[in-house]
Amino acid sequence: MAEYLKENRTRHNTDIAFLNTGNTQPAGQAEDWLDDMDITRHDFPYIEELLQQAFSNWAEDALPVYGLESAGWYLVDYTGKIIAGTGKPEEAETARLAAAAGMVLTTGEPERVIEPGCAAAAVPVRTRKFEEVYAVLVCIDASNSENLALAMQASRHFGTCFYRKLNQLFMGDLYNLQRQNERESARWTALLQIVKRIHDKIDVGAVLNEVLDSMSVIYPGAHLELLMTQDFKSSDSLQVKPLRFNTDNEHDELCVRAYTENTMLSRERVSDSGLRMLEIAVPLSGKQGVYGVFYLSIPGELGKDMDLQLMGILADTAGNAFENAKLYEQSNLLIQELQLINELSRQLSQSLKPDELFEFATKELLEIFKADFCAISELTPRGDEFRIMSTNIDVLDREPFPASYGICGLVYNTKEPLIISDYETFQGASSKIMESTDSRSLIGVPLMLRGRLSGAILLTHREPHFFSYDNYKLLQILASHIGLAMANASLYDAVQHMANRDMLTGLYARHYLDRCIKKRLANDSGGALLVVDIDKFKQVNDSYGHQVGDKILKQVCDIIKGSIRSDDVAARWGGEELAIYFPYMSADECFRVAERIRERVIAESEPEVTVSCGVGSWQFDRERISVELLFFIADMALYRAKNGGRNRTEIGYCDGSPESLASWLEEKDAL
Ligand code: GH3
Ligand code: MG
Ligand code: MG
Repeated sequence: MAEYLKENRTRHNTDIAFLNTGNTQPAGQAEDWLDDMDITRHDFPYIEELLQQAFSNWAEDALPVYGLESAGWYLVDYTGKIIAGTGKPEEAETARLAAAAGMVLTTGEPERVIEPGCAAAAVPVRTRKFEEVYAVLVCIDASNSENLALAMQASRHFGTCFYRKLNQLFMGDLYNLQRQNERESARWTALLQIVKRIHDKIDVGAVLNEVLDSMSVIYPGAHLELLMTQDFKSSDSLQVKPLRFNTDNEHDELCVRAYTENTMLSRERVSDSGLRMLEIAVPLSGKQGVYGVFYLSIPGELGKDMDLQLMGILADTAGNAFENAKLYEQSNLLIQELQLINELSRQLSQSLKPDELFEFATKELLEIFKADFCAISELTPRGDEFRIMSTNIDVLDREPFPASYGICGLVYNTKEPLIISDYETFQGASSKIMESTDSRSLIGVPLMLRGRLSGAILLTHREPHFFSYDNYKLLQILASHIGLAMANASLYDAVQHMANRDMLTGLYARHYLDRCIKKRLANDSGGALLVVDIDKFKQVNDSYGHQVGDKILKQVCDIIKGSIRSDDVAARWGGEELAIYFPYMSADECFRVAERIRERVIAESEPEVTVSCGVGSWQFDRERISVELLFFIADMALYRAKNGGRNRTEIGYCDGSPESLASWLEEKDAL
């Protein structure tokens, strides 16, 4: 009890933490055990205030009943100190009063002092159980013994007042304790529900919203903010803000410290309006890091009730739930990213034409990054210029620029990816892409083709700060896949080129010419085939050797290449025999081309050789003929040229009819 009263004396009827009366009876018997409750000598030093309250109650209630208001009444504690009175004793009275009280405290018995002009009665006030004297009630100016007897009775009533006060205090505290327990248990129940709800959420924004909602329920009247280093855009709540590190704002400074030290911090502050406020900063952290800080500002009065432990548990729960949601979100993003990369490279691999690839990549990148504009540039083989190969910015399509120009120039120069958050504050380079589109954000990456810089991809958006760091990383990955697809396409191109060409002469190979003529015969309305054969080439070889023979063969081929149009297809038909197909050309026109070639060979070959030419032609108004027949006709004409003395051109005619064919065969037999 002494501990309890001692505690109470300093805490003035506020909450009590422990109370051990040694009594554990249920509530129904509360009155009995309250009656049993008593103070002992150990409690005496702590009951002064209670005694004073009891005295003033008693003086108010009991004295009028006994008709003793006119007398002076004083209360003396167990040490002999006057602690209360109905008035202030005169000096002479004080000495008498102390003497009477002192005697009572020594003997434990009531004392009466009757002197002329003054009578005093001092009555002990005893504890209920062990009847120890815990105070003395002194009545002065009791002029007769009858009054003294009354005073004795009145003093007994004081005990009742004292115990009533003690019970009130005790019950009040019990009530407070119970209320606090109830509040506590409600808090824990709420916490349990909050924890469950928070852990149910797998979306980062939803976790943050849930935590903020819960905190405002638990701490009504508090100003609450959540300051995040990242993800402050995940929640639509206005309470979620970025944590600023460079600040001289005190409130931010407390939060930054809580963040860097990863501990809960609190301090008292007087607000601008002079209100005492309690500020608390609790880190939002999980197992892998600290993500932000909860900031609470609460009026000092409410702050007294603040349960920091609960706050800590809530922040821990929130931190872990946030981390889980974040990991879940990241793994989802990763899966999406992988799916995207997989799909893009699958689609890229379906095309082997560079132009088609550029166009496809532009369309996909705009879609993936939700960018406003995309431009894919390619460096020229000399590397001194680049050209926009594919873009949705019309004015830039196929536009050439010097290799060092603008943002592409920067990317080419550094061979590094680039992110521009806001072009308005960007000092690096001026850019036509940004300016012609009013773009503010950009991500750009170099395009590498088999380890060599070959171009760049730029994506832009009109909003500043549009692209995230994740976007920037993803673009690098996608660019490497686009680079691979481009490398495949260019390899394919090279292989195709090799497969269709004759290495020695640079003319097409025979199978390629065959395929071309076949297509032409099926779709066109006419055309001509010229076969060219070097005369007496065997002798050239024999006289000058094969190497010179090769050189002459190349000279003849170069003359042919220089004498035909881009749609004409010249091929090495076999050995020193060459063939050229001229779409839509008549036999006479072909004859003239052949003659030009023949004459140029005489003029330009070194050592000089001659060629013989045979022309075959066809026209759809008669009948579609086969590749073999067309060659046969040209070949027969060549045959005739050889037999006619070489170094000449002959035209073969055949409409493919059985009669025409028969006459050709006759001629061949005759030759
Ligand atoms: P003709 O006037 O009747 O065409 O006489 P020719 O000697 O040119 O004809 P023939 O068919 O008897 O011989 C062709 C020669 O061409 C045989 C071969 O040595 C030579 N030849 C074929 N291909 C090449 C080649 O790639 N390089 C060289 N140097 N010679 C070749
Ligand atoms: Mg020959
Ligand atoms: Mg020949």
